[in-house]
Amino acid sequence: MVKSSINTVLLVEDNAGDALLLRRMFREEGFRGMEVIHVEQMSEAEACLSNTAIDIVLLDLGLPDARGLEALRRARVASPRMPLVVLSGLDDDEVALQAMQEGAQDYLTKGQIEPRELLRAMRYAVERKMIEETLFAEKERAQVTLDSIGDAVVCADIEGNITFLNLVAETLIGWPLPEACGKPMVEVLRIIHATTREAIPDPMERVMEQNRTSHLPSDSILVRRDGSEVPIEDSVSPIRNREREVIGAVIVFRDVSAARAMTEQIAHSAEHDFLTGLPNRLLLNDRVSQAIALAKRHSYLLAVLFLDLDGFKHINDSLGHSTGDKLLQSVGERLVSCVRGVDTVSRQGGDEFVMLLPAIEKAEDAAIAARRMLQSVVEVHTVEGRDLYVTGSIGVSVYPTDGPDAETLIKNADTAMYQAKENGRQGYQFFEPAMNVRAVERQSIEESLRRAMERKEFVLHYQPKINLKTGAITGAEALIRWIHPTRGVVSPAQFIPVAEDCGLILPIGDWVLREACAQAREWVDAGLSGMSIAVNVSAMQFQHEGFLKGVFEILEQTGFDPTCLEVEVTESALMKRAEFTASILQTLRASGIKVAIDDFGTGYSSLSYLRKFPLDALKIDQSFVRQITKTPNETTIVSAIISMARSLKLRTVAEGVETVEELVFLQAHECDEAQGYYFGRPMPPHEFAALLVTHEKELQSHWAQPPVVFDTASL
Ligand code: C2E
Ligand code: MG
Ligand code: MG
Repeated sequence: MVKSSINTVLLVEDNAGDALLLRRMFREEGFRGMEVIHVEQMSEAEACLSNTAIDIVLLDLGLPDARGLEALRRARVASPRMPLVVLSGLDDDEVALQAMQEGAQDYLTKGQIEPRELLRAMRYAVERKMIEETLFAEKERAQVTLDSIGDAVVCADIEGNITFLNLVAETLIGWPLPEACGKPMVEVLRIIHATTREAIPDPMERVMEQNRTSHLPSDSILVRRDGSEVPIEDSVSPIRNREREVIGAVIVFRDVSAARAMTEQIAHSAEHDFLTGLPNRLLLNDRVSQAIALAKRHSYLLAVLFLDLDGFKHINDSLGHSTGDKLLQSVGERLVSCVRGVDTVSRQGGDEFVMLLPAIEKAEDAAIAARRMLQSVVEVHTVEGRDLYVTGSIGVSVYPTDGPDAETLIKNADTAMYQAKENGRQGYQFFEPAMNVRAVERQSIEESLRRAMERKEFVLHYQPKINLKTGAITGAEALIRWIHPTRGVVSPAQFIPVAEDCGLILPIGDWVLREACAQAREWVDAGLSGMSIAVNVSAMQFQHEGFLKGVFEILEQTGFDPTCLEVEVTESALMKRAEFTASILQTLRASGIKVAIDDFGTGYSSLSYLRKFPLDALKIDQSFVRQITKTPNETTIVSAIISMARSLKLRTVAEGVETVEELVFLQAHECDEAQGYYFGRPMPPHEFAALLVTHEKELQSHWAQPPVVFDTASL
C-alpha cells in the first residue's frame, strides 16, 4: 500500500555533488522528519528496496550500473508500487518524459531543483501513485466482476466500435477481445429476429441516440461467429461521461436457450400426454373447437373417433405396467400412421385414444378411417420381445349432427364406443341419440340401485337343472330379480352390469349368496335334500380379496353343505388374473364347493388354462343351444364343446333349452344336464319347493314321452 506521509526517502545518485546538494535540502524546514538513505549504484538501490521500508525513490538516470530507462525499469521490478521521481540532467528531458510514460510519477532537472519544488514533486508523486493504485484496484475489481458474472457484456464507443468484451461475451460471440476491439459493433454482434430472421438494427446506436436504457425484442437470436445461433435476452444502456454526455453504450445479454427450452417444454407437457407424446385431452378439446369454427364457415363435416382397447386391463394386470405402457405407445404410433397430417390423434388417458378428422365430406369417410385404425391396431405389436395382440372398439360422432361443441361430440363418441363394445369387440359404431337415452336410463338405474338393498327390493328365483339321463332335478340356479317400486321386475341383464360398474355388485353378490344358502338350507331342513344350488358370481366379486372369506362365513352362518354349492363364473372372470384365479379355485374345491364356467363359448378362454384350473362343469351358452334348431348345420359347435368338456372331465350343462329338438340333440350327444324354459322358468322359492315335491311324478311321466327314446340317426 502506498502511504501518504513520507518518512524514508531513497536517494539513488552517483554524483557526489548532486547528492550533497539534495541532502542539504532535506535539512530544511519542510523536510523535517524525513530520513534519507543515499546509495550510489542501482544494485545497492535494489537491495535496499527489497529490505527496507521506503516511501519514495529519487532516481538518477545516469548510474554506473544502470543507464537511462534501465535504472527505472529495474527499480520498478524491485518495487512495482513505489512512488518514483526521476532526476535527469539538463539534456535528458526526452528520457525523463519516457520515464513518466513507463511509470515514473514525476521528474526534476538536476541543477534547477529548488527545495520547495522537490518537496512538491515528492508529495505529488506519492499522491499520484496512490490514485493510480486505487484506480488500478478498482479497474481490477470491475474486470473481475465483469468476467465472473454469467452475462455477456459488450461496450462500444460513440462511433459504435467495440471497446470491451468480457470473457462470457468472448465465448458466446466467438470473438476474442483483442480481435474485436475497434471493430464496428454490427460486424461482431449479429442479432436477428427468430421469426422474420431479419437483422435487428444496432441496438446500441438507438440507445445512444435516445440516451436511455432499452431492450431487444423478446425473440432475439444471436448469430455467433461460426454461424450457430443462440436465443438471447438483453438490456442496452448508454455510457455517459461526467457531463452526462453519451460516450458509448454497453449491452448486457445472456444465452436463454435453456430457459426457452424449459418454457417450451412446460408449454408442451401441459398439452401433451407424457407417455405417448400425443396431444392430451386439453389440446384435443382446443383443436375440436377450432375445427368446429372452420367447419361452420366452410360448411363441411368433422368427425370425432373414440377408441378404447379391448381387454387392455388384462394385459396390464398380467404382463405388468411397463409392457402395458409400451403397448400404448405402439398403438399411438399405429393410429398416427393411419391419419393425415391435419388430423389429430390424442390420448385421453388409460387405453383411450380420441381422433379428430377436422374436414371430411361425408360420414362414410369417418367409417373408412375407423376401419383402417381397427385394422392397424389389431396387427401384432412386438413389445419387449413379446408378440402382443390387441383389438379396439371405436365410437364415432359427426359434427354438426351429433353435437354443437367439442365436449358433446367427444362425449357422444364415447357413448357410441360403449355401444360398439356391447355389439362385440373390434368394431365401430356411429352415435345415435337413442344411446343417450340408454345412458340416462343407466344413470337412473344406478341411483335407485343404491337404495334397493336397504328397501329389500331383491328376491331370488330358482330355475331347475335336469339330469338328462334320469330326468331328475339335480338342483337349481339362483337368479336375482329386482322388484322395482315403479318399474316392476327389472331383469338382471339390465342392472347387473350397472352394479358391476359402480361396485354395488359386492354387497348385492353377498346378499345373493347368503339368501340362496339360507333358502337351500331351509329346503334341506324340510327334507328336500340332495340338491345343489348354483349361484352366479360376477368377475369383480370373484376377483375381490374378501371373496373366499365371505363365502366361508356365509356357509358357516347358514349351515349349508359346501358340497351342494356350485359357483358360476364367466370365462373372462377366470382369465383375468390366471395365477390368482387358480389359487381361489383350489381353495373352493378343497372345501367341496363346485365351480362351473358360465356362458361358455362367449368369452376368451385359453385352453391351456382350462386344463390347469380345477373346474367341475361347463355351461354351454344358450346362443349355441339355439343353433341346434335355428341353423341345424352348425350344430358342430355344441357337439365340439361337449366332447372337449368330456376330454377335460368336466360336466356339461346346456343353458336355455326351450324345445324338444334341442333336448333330443343334447341327449344324443350325451350332455349331462340341461336348464331352460322347456323344463321350467326361474320361479319364486315356494313354487320351486312345490315343484321339487311333485317333480318325481310330473317329470317321470314327461320323461316317459318319446323324446327320451330318440333316434340318433335322424340327428
Ligand atoms: P346366466 O347365469 O347365464 O343365467 C341364465 C339366464 O338365462 C337367466 O336369465 C335365465 O332366466 C335365462 N334363461 C333360462 N332358461 C332360458 C330359456 O329357456 N330361454 C331363454 N331365452 N332364457 C333362459 P336372467 O335371470 O335374466 O339372468 C341373466 C344373467 O344375469 C345371468 O345369466 C347371470 O349372468 C346374471 N345374473 C342373474 N342373477 C345373478 C346374480 O345373482 N348374481 C350375478 N352376479 N349375476 C346374476
Ligand atoms: Mg348362470
Ligand atoms: Mg349363463
